[in-house]
Amino acid sequence: MSPRLVVLLLLAIFVSPAIAQTAVAHAPIAQNASPALSIPNTTIAVNSPTPLSQRVVHYEIDAKYDPKTHSLDAEETLTYHNLTGQALDTFPFHLYLNAFQPTSTWIRETKRDGTRDTSFEKWDSKNYGSDEIKRFEVVGQGDLTAQLKFIQPEDGNKDDKTVVQVHLPQPIPPDGYVQFKITFHDQFPQTLERTGWKRDFLLAGQWFPKVGVWWHGAWNCHQFHGATEFFADFGVYDVKITVPQFETVGASGIEVSNVTNSDGTKSVSYHADDIHEFAWTASPHYKVYTDNFQGSMGPVKLNIMMQHAHLDQEERHARILKQTLDHFERWYGPYPYKTLTLVDPEAGSAAEGMEYPTFITGGTTWWMPKGLYGPELVVEHEFGHQYWYGMVATNEFEDAWMDEGINSYTEAKVLDDILGPRTSILNQWGITTGERELQRTSYTGSADLDPIAQNGWDYANYGSYGGITYGKTASVLLTLEGIIGEDTMQRAMHTYFMRYRFTHPTKEDFLKTIEEVSGKDLRWYFNPAIYGTQVLDYAVQKVESTPVDWYKEKLKEKKGETEYQSEVIIQRKGDFIFPVEIAIAFDNGEKVREHWDGGDIQHRWIRYTYQKKAKVETVEIDPDHKIQIDRNNFNNSHRAEPDGKATRKLTNYWTFVSQFFAQLLAWWMV
Ligand SMILES: [Zn+2]
Repeated sequence: MSPRLVVLLLLAIFVSPAIAQTAVAHAPIAQNASPALSIPNTTIAVNSPTPLSQRVVHYEIDAKYDPKTHSLDAEETLTYHNLTGQALDTFPFHLYLNAFQPTSTWIRETKRDGTRDTSFEKWDSKNYGSDEIKRFEVVGQGDLTAQLKFIQPEDGNKDDKTVVQVHLPQPIPPDGYVQFKITFHDQFPQTLERTGWKRDFLLAGQWFPKVGVWWHGAWNCHQFHGATEFFADFGVYDVKITVPQFETVGASGIEVSNVTNSDGTKSVSYHADDIHEFAWTASPHYKVYTDNFQGSMGPVKLNIMMQHAHLDQEERHARILKQTLDHFERWYGPYPYKTLTLVDPEAGSAAEGMEYPTFITGGTTWWMPKGLYGPELVVEHEFGHQYWYGMVATNEFEDAWMDEGINSYTEAKVLDDILGPRTSILNQWGITTGERELQRTSYTGSADLDPIAQNGWDYANYGSYGGITYGKTASVLLTLEGIIGEDTMQRAMHTYFMRYRFTHPTKEDFLKTIEEVSGKDLRWYFNPAIYGTQVLDYAVQKVESTPVDWYKEKLKEKKGETEYQSEVIIQRKGDFIFPVEIAIAFDNGEKVREHWDGGDIQHRWIRYTYQKKAKVETVEIDPDHKIQIDRNNFNNSHRAEPDGKATRKLTNYWTFVSQFFAQLLAWWMV
């Protein structure tokens, strides 16, 4: 992490709320400025008779897309309910598409880290994106376009235009409403990631001016960073999209109308309840399949939008989607929405593997042998986000691990159950890899640079962000199962989801729920695992068996009769102190289990001695393989008689190949 970013982190924490909470004391409070305003309590897009979330926003957007220029013009009406308990006179808005400009913070950080699909050796004008506000009116307070001011709470990069702020002449009282009328123009970039066009395909995500979240007494509206995702309030969306008639459109929520216009266009309207982002796609090349899943709250219509080159994989996509839905419903809680749209994006579009509420993108290629579970992994992963990003909706800027990491943990659980624990990633040509190995490999590659609990933009680089946020969190939670039990962990996850869905919980809400459900104080584990950078690495340091009568002349060792003094030393090489089991087997078939608490800051090793008519044959640390965060598994065991050289070579080869695939998949799906 650069010193510049440390300073900016502090700025983000201390200055950003200060900027946002500009004094309101002297301004007259708007009284009943818009008494008729409200947020709809519609429930037509959910299988629930009442709203599921505390609805803060209602977005009504009328957008017209021109595929020739990859741009759109739109009118947005945003109704905001001030539930903050105090008067508000300042409102920040995200303009995420402005990230796709060569001097933005997003591009600077991705160029620095060489991430995604380009390291920007040369800027290509096709990569330009922008979200330009043409007119900004606050109903009852007039045209405030001239008052808009770009702010850069984290890094002060004046060229970054991803957050804009407006100061209202009249504050909005507690429990009051305010309505913004915004005219904007979007230029979509050629997809660098998540959003944009490729050939005649469009994936529109984070495409409209979007208000920040008032969270824990301050506005939370971070700049768009290379490694960060999103955070927004729940509400209702009514979006009309006008496109040429040859386009096939898919979107978040439910389709409520589809009207053909006389100018060769059509207008498709969508409604969505209790979501915090609205994404859509258009392409002339989709073939749309519909399917149904019977959820515990009601039927869910599945729209599967496939590319023609992948039509033979439609069944694979539908199967894994339904299996995943079924697992999440049974293990974590109900999926309450009436639709789920799965988009198979244009080849090479960098729009694969992305999540938006009730709308996800998969990722496949025309060549996909059935034992290469790439499509299954992506669909499961992105669907899992419906729970952690979509419904629980934690702050992805500041707690990326609570979405990506918890989601990677549930990915391991769900895929292992569906595809088998050792084969859930790859089961082809005699090579197998499971999810646990995938997550562990992703973690061990960058184990000690950053802690899990930190802002997404503060990681040393994108590799560390990915390895820690996804792989370490998943491995830490899998290891936690070994401490509190798999069933208890599942109950804790269910409790966490049911208690905190639609509420934006914090990391402590999550950790305390696990402690409460398990009835255990787990700070000894959470402190190094979640808040620290300590690395766990136990090793068999020494194994030796010496005849007790070694000094006698002409001593002849005889199996079963000669008495041996055996010594085993276990070393803790890392700073992560963790209780471990050690299994010792003797050559007479006798087995011993030892338990070591891992020592303390001054004690890094333990010696076990035995006197038996047998030699030590094998020593294995963590014989039940409960620990997923040991950085080096190769030093965890010892054999007195080495395996045949050839066998070992072969094993190493397969391990290498499997890990190579695991690594490849780990980065592909991020
Ligand atoms: Zn993800």
